Amino acid sequence: MALLPLVGSDTRVPLTVPLDGVTSLPYANLDYAASAPALAAVAEAVTRALPLYASVHRGAGYLSQVSTALYEQSRTAIGRFVGARSDDVVVITRNTTDSLNLLAGCVPEGARVLVLDVEHHANLLPWQRAGADVLKARATVAQTLQALTNALATRNYRLVAVTGASNVTGESLPVAEVVALAHAANARVVVDAAQLAPHRPFSLAATGADYVALSGHKLYAPYGAGALIGRRDWLDAGRPYLAGGGAVTNVTVGHTSWEPAPQRHEAGSPNVIGALALGVAATELTAVADRLADHDRTLRERLEAGLTRIPGVEVLRLWADSTEPVSVVSFTVAGQDPGLLAAYLSAEHGIGVRDGRFCAHPLLEARGVTAGLRASIGLGTAEEDVDRLVRGVSEFVTVGP
Ligand code: PLP
Repeated sequence: MALLPLVGSDTRVPLTVPLDGVTSLPYANLDYAASAPALAAVAEAVTRALPLYASVHRGAGYLSQVSTALYEQSRTAIGRFVGARSDDVVVITRNTTDSLNLLAGCVPEGARVLVLDVEHHANLLPWQRAGADVLKARATVAQTLQALTNALATRNYRLVAVTGASNVTGESLPVAEVVALAHAANARVVVDAAQLAPHRPFSLAATGADYVALSGHKLYAPYGAGALIGRRDWLDAGRPYLAGGGAVTNVTVGHTSWEPAPQRHEAGSPNVIGALALGVAATELTAVADRLADHDRTLRERLEAGLTRIPGVEVLRLWADSTEPVSVVSFTVAGQDPGLLAAYLSAEHGIGVRDGRFCAHPLLEARGVTAGLRASIGLGTAEEDVDRLVRGVSEFVTVGP
């Protein structure tokens, strides 16, 4: 039984070759890190809201007023979910990639940005394109923090971009420590919480981080919304993310006066339903945060222990001394093709995992890994799903496909 009811939790996978009369298996979804299924509460809220759906902000009619209220309440719920300070801004975006690109466009002209080479491409490419320096992560957290400190002392950085939890290994640097180092050097910190937020509570106020980005579809709200939350000044002064209606106070031919954030960056008709879904998911997840974190720790330990007992399996780790990784586990199997193994797990065991380079090419390259498999755990994962994966990998290694 999932910690919170999910849509589609009774999905079965048809088997291409029926085994002893069994033609289908319950789907073991171990790919939550890619996208999580909708919470039943989210789907219900969306269904309830659909008859009330209308264009927000500009309409005077009843439905517009209701939709506007739902949209703005969601903004408040999202801010609460990430411990936003009273003067932080919540910009509703499409996803984490969108949020980080938006912020990259608002960093003051000429400001230097520092990013680690372990990031998902979404938290690497927007910065790299803007000329950021990319720092190589070291073998331990302690050494990496020291390397960060040294880098911050050598150049006048204004922003450090870090992951809240790696989409490859689930590990992270201690965010509050990174913030302390960065702030001491007069730099701000943006946290990519795409993988952290679905597993652990995160708070801007508690960590002191300046910005956080997240995606609804990884937070059990797969309706196309995400968010960027953080300090107002850069977002108020930055170039509007899109030029268009809703982001302006006045337009004449040849001159445009832009709204402050968040409207400045939300031109065009917004994703009201996506925002609503994200707001509901945020509230629901907060209510089970402690139990979710326990579930996550227990199943990660079980998974890692099971996998490492299989000959030839190596679980990827970024840092020898990292603690509390979230339940995103990538691994390789000596001499085996990850794509073939992933296809076997799906076809014969009804298990969904991810294989490849996980949109983190520099991370894999630095560790000499060409491709791997990733299993990730969420609200609906049971011990049986984890055990089924361990059995499947073990069979593949010992018996072959
Ligand atoms: N950051 C991390 C750590 C991720 O895992 C992902 C997606 O997998 C992203 C950013 C990008 O998220 P999205 O595709 O929702 O923009």
